[in-house]
Amino acid sequence: MNRMYEYDVIIIGGSVAGLSAASFLNAKNIKTAVVEKNLQANGICTTAINPRSLDYMKRMGVINHIKDYDTYFKINGVKTYGYDGVSCKGFYNHDRSYLNYGHCLPREVVNNAFFEMVKELEYVNYMAPFLIQEVTHESDGEQVSVYGKYKKENITLRAKLIIDAMGRGSFIARDKQLFSYDSNHKRYALFCMFEKVSLTEPMFHIGTNAVVGPGYYTVFPVKDDKVMVAIFLTEEVASPQSYLDSFIKSSSFALSPYFRQAVQASELTSVGPIAFRNKQYTLEKTLMIGDSTGFFDPLTGEGLTQAFITAELASETVINYLKQGNWDRYAESYERRIAEYKTYSVGHASKLQQLLKYPNAYNRFIVSMAKNQKAADWQTCAVGNIFSQQERTSNELWEILVGRKKK
Ligand SMILES: Cc1cc2nc3c(=O)[nH]c(=O)nc-3n(C[C@H](O)[C@H](O)[C@H](O)COP(=O)(O)OP(=O)(O)OC[C@H]3O[C@@H](n4cnc5c(N)ncnc54)[C@H](O)[C@@H]3O)c2cc1C
Repeated sequence: MNRMYEYDVIIIGGSVAGLSAASFLNAKNIKTAVVEKNLQANGICTTAINPRSLDYMKRMGVINHIKDYDTYFKINGVKTYGYDGVSCKGFYNHDRSYLNYGHCLPREVVNNAFFEMVKELEYVNYMAPFLIQEVTHESDGEQVSVYGKYKKENITLRAKLIIDAMGRGSFIARDKQLFSYDSNHKRYALFCMFEKVSLTEPMFHIGTNAVVGPGYYTVFPVKDDKVMVAIFLTEEVASPQSYLDSFIKSSSFALSPYFRQAVQASELTSVGPIAFRNKQYTLEKTLMIGDSTGFFDPLTGEGLTQAFITAELASETVINYLKQGNWDRYAESYERRIAEYKTYSVGHASKLQQLLKYPNAYNRFIVSMAKNQKAADWQTCAVGNIFSQQERTSNELWEILVGRKKK
């Protein structure tokens, strides 16, 4: 038997982007189905949550579902290390309405909190595990159908629109060849948790050295003596575990003194290439959100922020379309807004990635910031995705550094 259910929107993918879109649509009473292939989302690593993302998580009520929320470190900024160990500290020192600190939460904690949040949404039906067999568009172009298996039954879901929140696993993007990998910007990631690390400063630590450069490492304090370590390399390594073991012990790793007693506390995950771009963000009656719009580099929470911002923009687009019709107009506007957001989102990170290729220049940059607290704070807020589009891609940092701008 094939059961049929009608919705306004079907979201495919029930991770951070998909469930955020569900939350925004629910707030406007839009009847939504979320289909997730796993029992619960298992999207790739997310640990760094910057102040802007934290603000979204508060707005959606996700924070309320994080058990022992107050026991996690409240991150107040970023400590950055250059190639030769020089370092500077920048703080989330800004006057935005966002919370003035970030967080570092294990991915399963974030996923569970989203999962609990979505259960409370009146207009949203979360269906998992749902195995999609086919997505079809009706000939009049008005309805989209998703066929699949759910709880051993064959199900057809019909709706007016689809939101693709499948991240890098999107079969829609894959079939239409929307993803493109940039040969100048390859990043392979290794990441895992460590315990018994005596890292006391509640800051994100981001650095490089001759071993990983022009890649970088991140060490993010989570809770008590737990930290998340990630290393972003420009080439794949043959034996990730032995690479990690020797890296942690190497004297060129500026944080190695804190790792003397450290014990690896989770399996090492190795993934890549992780950076890719999208050729477009809409297809016939389909809006792409989160990582299915492409993903450049994580830095400190860029992935989550992108998921929230694109989910919010897609929800606005859905609401406008359901009220007014005229898909072409709203799809075109969505394309434009996402493209603008992408320029801003990757703009500053691209500049930093370029600088990493020149060790002397990068060291000088860190030294200049160590001497100029305003510049270091600006840089930290930019990396934390806090500034507006104009500010983040402006020359403001350089103006502060050379002393032309008193801020
Ligand atoms: C190494 C690494 C470190 C990172 N660190 C950070 C960080 O510190 N901070 C940060 O903010 N971001 C980080 N990111 C990025 C962040 O993980 C992603 O940007 C974020 O998970 C994107 O969310 P999403 O919902 O778009 O996609 P995902 O989280 O990938 O979710 C996609 C969902 O779609 C489901 N799905 C896929 N195919 C189907 C299908 N056919 N049917 C139904 N469901 C399907 C999947 O099961 C999954 O649940 C990191 C990424 C990497 C690779």
